[in-house]
Amino acid sequence: MSFASDTKKELCRCPNAQPCCQKAEVYGFFLFGKMFSAREISVTTESIPAARRASRQLAELSGSITELTAGMYRQGADRSWVTVSVNAWEERLRVLEFFGHTPQEAHLRIRKENLPQDCCYPAFLRGAFLSCGTVVRPEKEYRLEFAVPHQHLARDLQELLQGIGLELEPGVSSRRGTFVVYVNEAEKVGDLLAYMGASGASLELIQAKMLKEVRNNVNRKLNFESANQDKTADAAARQMLAIRRIGETVGFSSLPEPLRQLAQLRYEHPEYSLRELGQSLEPPISRSGVNHRLKRILELAEKSGQTEETLQEEP
Ligand SMILES: [Zn+2]
Repeated sequence: MSFASDTKKELCRCPNAQPCCQKAEVYGFFLFGKMFSAREISVTTESIPAARRASRQLAELSGSITELTAGMYRQGADRSWVTVSVNAWEERLRVLEFFGHTPQEAHLRIRKENLPQDCCYPAFLRGAFLSCGTVVRPEKEYRLEFAVPHQHLARDLQELLQGIGLELEPGVSSRRGTFVVYVNEAEKVGDLLAYMGASGASLELIQAKMLKEVRNNVNRKLNFESANQDKTADAAARQMLAIRRIGETVGFSSLPEPLRQLAQLRYEHPEYSLRELGQSLEPPISRSGVNHRLKRILELAEKSGQTEETLQEEP
């Protein structure tokens, strides 16, 4: 499963508390599809949950029936697509009318009447993202984009993103006949994901960024070349994040003394090997002893995180 498809799955679990928001989301989904006109209304997506959700919500709101057609990108490929379309002419006219559009529009634009309140903007963007959006795996780079088939619509989306109070500076570029509206800074991408309702994906992105930063730091301190260097740096970075997490949640004083000592030593020396850590402790312990204690620190960090989340969930 890719980060983008996981994000879409998460967005598909977002409830739309208000009918206005439900309408705004469905509008975003169909408006940003391949075609939204009297001749054709269709959206092709790799996300089956997104296609089902949009199809169901449109039926609930306007009574219009959509058809879902699925296929594979290549024979035997693991990537599949599904198209949601409104096939009957009268049905398409009804959908256009429902969203305040007419069959005679020269350029497709966002009709703000479908976003009557502030609450509708996150829902609208969620719909647009489910329809034509993607987000790059945060281990690679930080980039969220909407591939929009129509130029004016892309400009409207850019303007709308600038106005939602997240201080986004979205760019627009053209790529093989589509207009790509993109946001590409870790914090901005994280904010936008959370805004649309994917707080899990947002958190994952920010954690990946922290891990990458700590890891780069460790790598700078490690002054030897080795095939294991990346693995060592990765492990040290995870330990450091865990230690930081304990410090921020339950506090170091909650750790038993031997663990507290090791946590402090690791934090001060991310470049130390397990053997070096063991030798620097008073009294010295073995490599496997260090390994065992670090494992316990990671477990405690995970538990402290869970406690924090449970606390936050309470009203
Ligand atoms: Zn609303």
